[in-house]
Amino acid sequence: MSFNFDNTYARSLEGFYVPTEPEPAPAPKMVQFNRALAAELGLDGEALASETGAAYFSGSQVPAGATPLAQAYAGHQFGGFVPQLGDGRALLLGELIDRHGRRRDVQLKGSGRTPFSRGGDGKAALGPVLREYLMGEAMHALGIPTTRALAAVATGEPVYREQILPGAVLTRVAASHLRVGTFQFFAARGDTGKVRQLADYAIARHYPEAAMAPQPYLAFLQAVVEAQAALIAQWMLVGFVHGVMNTDNTAISGETIDYGPCAFMDHYDPQTVFSSIDRNGRYAYGQQPLIARWNLARLAETLIPLIDSEEKTAIATATEAVNSFTSHFDARWLAGMRAKLGLAATEPADLELANRFLAILQGQRADYTLAFRHLAAAATGDDSAIERLFQDPAPYRDWAVHWRDRHPDGETMNRVNPACIPRNHQVEAALAAAVERQDLKPFETLLAVLSEPFTELPGREAYTQPAPDDHPRYRTFCGT
Ligand code: AMP
Ligand code: MG
Repeated sequence: MSFNFDNTYARSLEGFYVPTEPEPAPAPKMVQFNRALAAELGLDGEALASETGAAYFSGSQVPAGATPLAQAYAGHQFGGFVPQLGDGRALLLGELIDRHGRRRDVQLKGSGRTPFSRGGDGKAALGPVLREYLMGEAMHALGIPTTRALAAVATGEPVYREQILPGAVLTRVAASHLRVGTFQFFAARGDTGKVRQLADYAIARHYPEAAMAPQPYLAFLQAVVEAQAALIAQWMLVGFVHGVMNTDNTAISGETIDYGPCAFMDHYDPQTVFSSIDRNGRYAYGQQPLIARWNLARLAETLIPLIDSEEKTAIATATEAVNSFTSHFDARWLAGMRAKLGLAATEPADLELANRFLAILQGQRADYTLAFRHLAAAATGDDSAIERLFQDPAPYRDWAVHWRDRHPDGETMNRVNPACIPRNHQVEAALAAAVERQDLKPFETLLAVLSEPFTELPGREAYTQPAPDDHPRYRTFCGT
């Protein structure tokens, strides 16, 4: 079995990581394997779907050519700076060049202690591993940049949390695992040389055009700002709440990373929070653009010494780059909202039209995903489904007069407005079956449904619906 590893991080960034071996698992068993992704990575999916894969993707056997290492990073967690975090339960095995010529990290998560584990055990439980698998694959199918899941392997070992839980390892694939927190780690130590080395690496790997710019480090910052603006706009458009937008969970590549207590919003409410640890709503749905910009300001701070030898000039230009997040985000979001509303042309009143619709949803606690989906039917003259979402359809009817003036196209709407998102009660039911009853059927069905989110298929109606009203308020836990 060969992996064509080409490990630039290990090779060119010595001092940015600690070589660390994974801990072998006592009884590795493949729980879920992503054959399509394996094929994309040029791996032999057939061979890896079995025990061989379980050995590799539990960390029990290190594949030839891998250079397992724990990456160093710092991070602002809920606004407070932690100078040393790092991969406490993850190991980068190496990098593969995929079929499209893209370089992709292959990382084990939950493979045991590392020098960055602090008090933790370096392990992961099956529930959160499957949750990250499902959410990442769902985001990918929605067309949103994200890390992917290659495998979930049960280790056969218990992990000790509030309860004893089955242990597992997630193998995840990412454009890279460079984070805002990676820059912060070296900047906090005053090591400008290392920040420069890291920035050069990130430019070469993710934003090569920045190297040609008159001010490469400023161009790099600008590129990360734009990638994050595009990403967060996509989150907002599908109602995704990440839940832990710490700077160590903010990827330089612009991919969604570190699925912990994330969840999708049901009824539209900017204050939606699911995570039990987010007591002040710092990472609420509606806060996400502001927080992303705040995180980018933390990245900018680390780059100040590289941007200009004159600190005042550097700060002024970096601030401008960070502030440009807002206009980039707004443009992306509005373009996405136009598509969701089926509007082909651009008009000055579009923003108001979109905001008025959202205000109606919020006022009547209408389901965000269903509202846009039913709006497509309304575009072709059938308002019955959307009107059922409202206790009082009058505000909608008033609004729809203006909307119809714009000749919305229901068919294009159904290509951007998902029918199926990971509904919280469905996710929980699938994970409970997998973890408590070793029944993977609900998980696999849900995964299959979510891999075609824009298609409504007969028999899948249940997957389009939010939890019944009498369901308790949905809470998520970090579940490390
Ligand atoms: P996360 O909540 O996954 O973003 O992780 C935040 C930090 O805590 C990272 O440095 C992780 O490596 C570390 N961490 C989380 N869970 C564990 C664990 N079970 N053992 C060791 N380190 C952990
Ligand atoms: Mg993290």
